[in-house]
Amino acid sequence: MNNVKCKKVWLSSPHMGGTEKNFVQEAFETNWVAPLGPNVNGFESDIQKYLSDDKFVAALVSGTSALHLGLKLLGVSEGDEVLCQSLTFAASANPITYLGASPVFIDSERRTWNICSEQLEIAIRDRIAKGKKPKAIVTVHLYGMPYEVDKVHKIAAYYEIPILEDSAESLGSSYKGFKCGTFGDMSILSFNGNKIITTSGGGALITSSKELKDKAVFLATQAKDDAPHYQHSEIGFNYRMSNIVAGIGRGQMKVLDTHVSNRRRNYAFYKKHLNEFSEINFLDEPEGSFSNRWLTCIETSSFNLREKIRIALAEENIESRPLWKPMHSQPVFKNAIAYINGVSDELFEKGLCLPSGSNLEQEDLDRVISIIKKVLK
Ligand SMILES: *Cc1c(COP(=O)(O)O)cnc(C)c1O
Repeated sequence: MNNVKCKKVWLSSPHMGGTEKNFVQEAFETNWVAPLGPNVNGFESDIQKYLSDDKFVAALVSGTSALHLGLKLLGVSEGDEVLCQSLTFAASANPITYLGASPVFIDSERRTWNICSEQLEIAIRDRIAKGKKPKAIVTVHLYGMPYEVDKVHKIAAYYEIPILEDSAESLGSSYKGFKCGTFGDMSILSFNGNKIITTSGGGALITSSKELKDKAVFLATQAKDDAPHYQHSEIGFNYRMSNIVAGIGRGQMKVLDTHVSNRRRNYAFYKKHLNEFSEINFLDEPEGSFSNRWLTCIETSSFNLREKIRIALAEENIESRPLWKPMHSQPVFKNAIAYINGVSDELFEKGLCLPSGSNLEQEDLDRVISIIKKVLK
């Protein structure tokens, strides 16, 4: 094997733009090495400008902590039920349990692979009939593809249930001209190492009022009362983003749109070269939706074919991964209530995420395609 062949190709790896170091260096030079400072404020304001002027942004240590605080601020507490898209990463659901509440999982529809509005309404009616009106709904734009915002939010509004929008995978995506991360009563972003932009680890809670943002920051910095000594009337958390990490974020915001176009280019390339094979299906954007194509996912015709492709790629040092295993099929949530139509289980069985980084080179993409074509022929 030659060197090119051996080169590791990652599913989605960090991609620095170049200016990140300047912001981090400035933090060192001014001694803002703390969970506050100009980079935190600057990063929050960059995100706000990108998303929408009427939103407020609290930079936190992770997307998971943002989900935790978001649920708490929506009033979720012990004994409550929270509806949650089943086909997602476990971090969408875990914070529900941190609050002593129970997740109730909702299956997906085929157009976007996200929460199915029919199953959602069936679940809401059934939970209400059983005397357990859900306290909130966690929706997800999976792999960057916007969910059916109009349908889902119409149902949520009718039953007066707030939405926590998990936009961890969809920074840069939009629906009918509005950015993902602006649709929920609260929304979250993630800047983990594999996301479309990264701060090494980080996240943000997006709110629609300054009061809610201030409350989130208060809770995220140990809930200190206004007093000269340390006094606490509420349980707090240590969830605030550091000024070092936020410096990376400020540099990354400068290259976000480039990352989106690179990832969309990956998708277009894969689709162009695999479209002729009836065993491979791609998820097209419904009219009005714009996906950041965080990961390019294919649905193959069978579990066996999916595995053949995954293993052939792994043998050539190329990382690919099955789609998220639905939460209702996870051992840890085996006792959770779920409203299921079979879609997410089928996607898990046949779906594969292909290498999708914004820093992939043409020769990496060519290798992936030639290996998949070899399996298919
Ligand atoms: C990555 C991710 C999260 C968690 O974000 P972290 O920053 O890793 O805590 C939550 N939900 C989804 C859908 C994600 O992909």
